[in-house]
Amino acid sequence: MWPDQNTQSYALTERARRVFAGGSTRLLAWLDPYPIYLSRGEGAYVHDVDGNPYFDLTNNFASLIHGHAHPRIVAAVTERVALGTCFTLPTPADVELAELLLQRLEGADKIRFLNSGTEAVMMAIRAARAYTGRPMIAKVEGAYHGMYDHAEISLDSNPDTWGQTPKSVSYSHGTPEAVLADTLILPFNDVEGAEAALKEHADRLAGVLIDPVPATCGMIPATPEYLAMLRRLCDELGAVLIFDEVVSFRYGYQGAQGVFGGDPDLTTIAKIIGGGFPVGAIAGKAEVMAVFDHSHGKPLAPASGTFSANPVSMVAGKASMEMLDPEAFAHLQRLGDHARDVIEQAIRDSGFVGQVTGVGSNFLIHPHVRHITDYRSAWRAPAEHKRMKALQHGMLKQGVFMAGTGSGFISTVTATKDLDHFGAALAKVMADLTRLH
Ligand code: PMP
Repeated sequence: MWPDQNTQSYALTERARRVFAGGSTRLLAWLDPYPIYLSRGEGAYVHDVDGNPYFDLTNNFASLIHGHAHPRIVAAVTERVALGTCFTLPTPADVELAELLLQRLEGADKIRFLNSGTEAVMMAIRAARAYTGRPMIAKVEGAYHGMYDHAEISLDSNPDTWGQTPKSVSYSHGTPEAVLADTLILPFNDVEGAEAALKEHADRLAGVLIDPVPATCGMIPATPEYLAMLRRLCDELGAVLIFDEVVSFRYGYQGAQGVFGGDPDLTTIAKIIGGGFPVGAIAGKAEVMAVFDHSHGKPLAPASGTFSANPVSMVAGKASMEMLDPEAFAHLQRLGDHARDVIEQAIRDSGFVGQVTGVGSNFLIHPHVRHITDYRSAWRAPAEHKRMKALQHGMLKQGVFMAGTGSGFISTVTATKDLDHFGAALAKVMADLTRLH
């Protein structure tokens, strides 16, 4: 069994090392010493190529809100695949999914489909620039918004690089200076600090990008005061307010903005709206979304994509979202509350130095007891990272797969008893780690 070397996963990793730099084609799919290769998933469980089941708390990083191979999504996709998987012309499903999503996102008039959250954020940044004619995008220190140069600035700032007040720090080696200069970094939930930074760059500011519950800032929500300040400043300065709800759209029937408020000009969504297939979308106010309008000639912000609004993602997304009625969100909230309860109990029972945060069906375990208010207080020292990895490893040996960060994303098909078993396993692994210390 993993992590021994006598597994099919190990053999596959040996082959993968020959074809992929570092032995993997996806950064977050890597586990030390080697990743577990999966053969199938069903409901809340995945099975590896060696025949071992795991209770899956990652759900492909928050995208499978109904777990694996949900029968209704499988049926919708199977029917669609037999009729053709992608065309140069549109299919009815893109209009149907668009109507469903806009009916929930109250402040949005129009929507545009893309293929990932990264693309959605990238195009939202483009839209803000096209709408304002300005170059600069403001984002929160440490917040993740996908694999795009501007969106990644200051993603992994650390005490050696982050400075007194947040400054632009490159994430990927070789990031052009111009990208750093055009990305303004804001402190999370610090109304005065963020307001001062925005005002200082008023004449260059195209938009403000904010995840209402950034996981890297501790998975705590933006305060109503912070969101209100961003709205006021964007109005005052003529900038575009962009909510990144790629993950947080799962927090309620109307997304995080329905739970925590806020009135964005644009919202990026992805993950759950594709029912397990690649997807991204930007929804927003008609006047800003008009930058994509080609009907009077070349649009201010052209946006296309070979697989954008492909019918497989559209029908899967529609099936996924139709099942997410208000009762389903209430159910997810109850499961999330229960998960956080069993984690707190495990921490108490084991003496593990840690705490848990989270919203709705998401949780995040922290390897420290600092008061978490922003990226800097949530930031983990290398030894703390190591403890979380050890926790992930210990849990894998107990048949539970959670992210190496200690995060989990629960699906509607998760049983309360699975969460109880998870809690018991967690208490055991935490106790072992505490003893080792
Ligand atoms: N924004 C946020 C807040 C995200 O968490 C992610 C992905 N985890 C993205 C954007 C990028 O989405 P994708 O991985 O679909 O490109």
